Amino acid sequence: MKKGELKMIDWKKEAEKYKEAYLADLKELVAIDSSRDVEHATDEFPLGPGPAKALEKFLEFGNRDGFTTHNIENIVGYIEYGNGKEYFAALGHADTVPAGKGWDTNPFELMLKDGKAIGRGTSDDKGPALAAYYGLKMLKDHGIMPNLKVRLIIGTDEETNWTGMKRYFEVEPDPKIGFSPDAEFPLINGEKGNVTFETKFAGDTKDGENTLVSFKAGLKENMVPREAEVEIKTDTADLISTKFEEYLLNVPVTGTYEVTPTGIKLEMIGKAAHGMEPKNGINAGTYMATFLKEFTFDKAGQNFVGFIADKLHDDSRATKLGLQFTDDIMGDLTMNVGIIDYSQSQGGLINTNFRFPKGITPAKIEQQLKDNSAYYRGQVEMNPDYMEPHFVDPKDPIVTTLMDIYKEQTGQTVAEPEVVGGGTYGRLMKRGVAFGALFPGAEDTMHQANEFQNVNDLLMTMSIYGQSLYELTK
Ligand SMILES: [Zn+2]
Repeated sequence: MKKGELKMIDWKKEAEKYKEAYLADLKELVAIDSSRDVEHATDEFPLGPGPAKALEKFLEFGNRDGFTTHNIENIVGYIEYGNGKEYFAALGHADTVPAGKGWDTNPFELMLKDGKAIGRGTSDDKGPALAAYYGLKMLKDHGIMPNLKVRLIIGTDEETNWTGMKRYFEVEPDPKIGFSPDAEFPLINGEKGNVTFETKFAGDTKDGENTLVSFKAGLKENMVPREAEVEIKTDTADLISTKFEEYLLNVPVTGTYEVTPTGIKLEMIGKAAHGMEPKNGINAGTYMATFLKEFTFDKAGQNFVGFIADKLHDDSRATKLGLQFTDDIMGDLTMNVGIIDYSQSQGGLINTNFRFPKGITPAKIEQQLKDNSAYYRGQVEMNPDYMEPHFVDPKDPIVTTLMDIYKEQTGQTVAEPEVVGGGTYGRLMKRGVAFGALFPGAEDTMHQANEFQNVNDLLMTMSIYGQSLYELTK
């Protein structure tokens, strides 16, 4: 086929033809619970069998459709097509966050309803990564042979430590340019830095007037905790339950309690959200601590609760830690209190995750956390695996070409590239951006119960990716 003829491809119409096949494949991917499962890790499956199975499923599609595929140590793999030495990369992931609670349907059964594809991973990132795969398949099915090789690289640990994708960049040559179909449209050319801290607290077996027996909230550092559970040893369960009911009247969380032989158990429910913008969620854990602060606890429990309530509650810009900071281009520093985990005998930890623009360092954040937690006897540890801010020049052809295609296909002619707090795989490439797949105005349900993506949006995404892979590799 000559290049002149290729311009005639109606990408949207082509994508429409793949709808049934795409949804059938998506169904298979969603059916695999691919959240990180290191409790079942083996030498063969270092992240547990789930993530590897989902990767294998992607590669199986590639083999079925006649592409070259490679599986690297069951933690990352790629599907390859085209000519040339250098390559263009699309970086997606097959792992998901855990299903969590609150679903109306089975999270592992793809449900098509009211134009939505519902299920864990439909939006983050099985749906978009598979759309990129079908973009590549469209090229192949049209006999288009890229002059810059294309690799669709599939990670299996995006939601936690990026173990697989980091391994890929250790053992494989860097791509020339690329994008990650793992965020939103139009395009992200800047990403904040990302650093996580654990603030640890000692336990104490001595009881107090009230004793904090346990306090748990949150599953992951990059999610706003939806639920919080507390167990208290106390003689005044009635008083606490009355106050609890009063408290719930004035806050955006719901709750239940249960009086026990030794005291009381409390549960709160807020709203989960992605940790890169904690304002979109309601942190059940910090609300719980704020309620508990009304009471006197054993010394260790008091310190634990006090630090959360005084320094971390309802403060996504970390003002109370003295960390309020904004960069003109990259925006605000943000903080998510992702995990709260305490027991009287073991002590506790609070996991805080920060997204920071250029102009502030992890060392500065660490210092402020230390200064502010010392009074509560907290010990701060920084996860050494942090990420620096990432920025690609808006005039780089990777940005301008993708923006042009996006504008042309959607008719959104005034769209501009943006900077976000989420760390995407885009940052792993010097000239890497994130491109799709959540459209402006579409509901963001990533990491939440009832995750979905509109089927028409997924097809539009496929169409945009098809043209993008074509234009950037011809
Ligand atoms: Zn993702």
